[in-house]
Amino acid sequence: KEEVNIISGALDLRKKKVSDVMTKLKDCFMLPINSILDFETMSEIVKSGYSRIPVYEGARGNIVTVLFIKDLAFVDPDDNTPLRTLCQYYQNPCNFVFEDITLDVMLKQFKEGHKGHMAFVQRIEEGDGDPVYETVGLVTLEDVIEEMIQAEIVDE
Ligand code: ADP
Repeated sequence: KEEVNIISGALDLRKKKVSDVMTKLKDCFMLPINSILDFETMSEIVKSGYSRIPVYEGARGNIVTVLFIKDLAFVDPDDNTPLRTLCQYYQNPCNFVFEDITLDVMLKQFKEGHKGHMAFVQRIEEGDGDPVYETVGLVTLEDVIEEMIQAEIVDE
């Protein structure tokens, strides 16, 4: 029964889009790049429980980099380090995908690994002028695997 579920889940990856499984931007735990890594901010990051935090400049949709929790290993909250300084040091790239790519394509990209296991989902807004890209959410390898196994993975 379980195996049948996984097989049908795997076959259905081609029918589902990243926008169907993403975490919406409004529900993402993110930090503005002008944050200070003081005790309060670092506690909030740890409390959030996420291992990757998108970092934005200005509007939330303008994601410029990603902070990995491991990047905080050498940060002393008493130093009040600007997040920007840390981001400039690590320069973790972010990966963007369009909202209509299917989960089999997303899984293939995650498997290749060089772009990491998180991607930001973009929508093209067609207006009068040039099309503008709007960031609408994020998707991780876990979101895709949950679709494949047709079950929630309970976080550690
Ligand atoms: P983590 O390693 O941080 O637990 P996962 O890749 O296991 O992240 O993803 C678990 C779930 O949390 C997924 O549904 C993913 O979309 C979501 N997620 C990951 N990072 C964030 C974040 N910074 N804010 C909100 N949701 C997130």
